Amino acid sequence: MAQFIDMDNVKFILNEMLEVESLCSYPRFSDFDKESFDILLDSTMTYAETVMYPSFRETDEQEARYEDGKIIVHPIVGQYMKDAGSNGNIGATFDYEDGGVQLPHTVYIAQGHIAECANNHLTGYPGLTSGAAQLLVTFGDQAVKDMFVPKMLAGEWGGTMCLTEPQAGSSLSDITSTAKPNDDGSYAIAGQKIFISGGDHEYCENFVHLYLARIDGAPKGTKGISLFAVPKFRMEDGKLVSNDVLTASDFPKMGQKGYCTTHLVFGENGNTKGWLVGPENQGLKCMFQMMNGARIEVGCTATSIATAAYYASLQYAKERPQGRKILNHGKKNINEEQALIIEHPDVRRMLLLQKAITEGSIALTLQSAYYHDMSEAGPEDERHNYHMLLELLTPMVKTYGSEMGIESVSNGLQILGGYGFCSEFVLQQYYRDIRITSIYEGTTGIQSLDLLGRKVVMNNGEAMRALTKEIISTIKAAENYDDLKPYADQLKKASKELEETLMHLLSFAMKGEHEKYIADATLFMEMICTIVVGWQWLKMATTAKTAMVTGNMVSKIGFYESKLHTMKFYFKYELPKIASLKETLFNEATLTIQQEDSVVFS
Ligand SMILES: Cc1cc2nc3c(=O)[nH]c(=O)nc-3n(C[C@H](O)[C@H](O)[C@H](O)COP(=O)(O)OP(=O)(O)OC[C@H]3O[C@@H](n4cnc5c(N)ncnc54)[C@H](O)[C@@H]3O)c2cc1C
Repeated sequence: MAQFIDMDNVKFILNEMLEVESLCSYPRFSDFDKESFDILLDSTMTYAETVMYPSFRETDEQEARYEDGKIIVHPIVGQYMKDAGSNGNIGATFDYEDGGVQLPHTVYIAQGHIAECANNHLTGYPGLTSGAAQLLVTFGDQAVKDMFVPKMLAGEWGGTMCLTEPQAGSSLSDITSTAKPNDDGSYAIAGQKIFISGGDHEYCENFVHLYLARIDGAPKGTKGISLFAVPKFRMEDGKLVSNDVLTASDFPKMGQKGYCTTHLVFGENGNTKGWLVGPENQGLKCMFQMMNGARIEVGCTATSIATAAYYASLQYAKERPQGRKILNHGKKNINEEQALIIEHPDVRRMLLLQKAITEGSIALTLQSAYYHDMSEAGPEDERHNYHMLLELLTPMVKTYGSEMGIESVSNGLQILGGYGFCSEFVLQQYYRDIRITSIYEGTTGIQSLDLLGRKVVMNNGEAMRALTKEIISTIKAAENYDDLKPYADQLKKASKELEETLMHLLSFAMKGEHEKYIADATLFMEMICTIVVGWQWLKMATTAKTAMVTGNMVSKIGFYESKLHTMKFYFKYELPKIASLKETLFNEATLTIQQEDSVVFS
């Protein structure tokens, strides 16, 4: 079987870098230990190898489609939902009293990474069900929880997030779906939702849509949006009856074809009932719990696709003979056998770029999941700090994983030359699959506005100060090793440049020039992500160095050497990019801001 992940890397990040077992010292996670984490991860890997990966090409070829009012998906979707329910994965991170086992998010996300490297078309089905059920558990009243959550955790009913409408994509303030109070405490729901992932198929008995709508008379904008649980079938007299939710179509797509994307119509016959979740007009605030979780998961999905693509291109590079090595005198010996392409520096550069992006990105993703756990279960007086770090890193995990994941897969495809473009080879599928990740769950543009417009300035820059402290602590640890000092210095300098850039941008906000402040938020995102992933690489390198120096090595020495080598690659080829980003961000020409009297696009 082709390799799609390196479990040594997953375990290195979890056990050696994050020391995930330390979470078990907190009461919430005290029923776990390293051995139980390892058993979970290894069994996820076995399942990924035997069930998920073998169906990966088929879920693309036999894509989800709309036929006679129904959505048809590959039968593996049914098996996967059933298994995710029966093995407790859907509710694994939930409290015991809500049907979960209080698994740390760090391990849950690592399991998701393994599964998504194997087949990214499947994981969204239970993933969204889990996020929707968590929202009901947090904000729903007891009757609503009892009505939906047990069936969702069992994998029998699917869950979705129903935000997008034709006129309201990035701008949720323009949602027009309506909700009118009924006499029985429910609401009559009406509206259309598009692009709803996992919204309908034959393998779940029912679907529970977490639905944003406006109650009659609600204020305009985001302050008038409420959240409802709207099932496809509702329970009446112990039986499931139609709730007037029509599946109008499935969107044919360029990638993730096995993951259906539905168009749903609610209340066409005036008979759709929904139940309020959380307070009236606070729906978007509540929904953010699910959106934040989903953003980390999308970053993880993207990184996983790019990881699997990396191993596919690595295998090809080791097998494909082409050309000859350039000898030191600059000539080639035509009588020699062809070299394998992995011997050519440019191919090695592309492979190292993929390795640097994917391993850096999964480290950042798991680091954020670790902060999530600490914000819920760590020492009381530190929880707020971890929460701030998670808030700040969430848009970066989503954006770096997807944007740089796309770049990474593109390089992987390039390694296959012409074959990369051909359907017979898997790289083109990864290339198509990953493309959506920088779009759904908030585009890169929207994530960047969130980062610069909200996250870096919240509580007077509290989260940025917390992040700087974390980076400094890694720099100090690296400074213990002479050969890591130059990289520690480079990261210190980069952090300073980031601070200067932010101060420069903030000067516009202080002058009330808000559009100017925010206009290049995506470039700021690129700059900070490049530094933050550099931080993760220095942390991995320091962990590897410590293992080598102490002799306390869990993996073979080559694994640790390769960590150090890839860190050096990242610091030579990726980190210096911040200089040009800084230059652009300091350049005051306002070329992208719309001026009333100028013609740019004629
Ligand atoms: C396969 C797929 C699955 C999806 N799954 C779901 C789902 O399960 N549930 C759900 O509710 N939605 C889902 N979506 C919808 C998805 O979240 C939206 O497509 C996305 O948020 C963008 O909205 P839009 O398509 O309307 O694009 P638009 O909002 O029209 O954006 C178009 C472009 O304009 C930019 N833009 C828009 N506004 C601004 C601004 N203020 N400042 C700067 N740039 C801006 C965007 O960044 C983008 O580049 C899915 C979409 C797809 C394609």
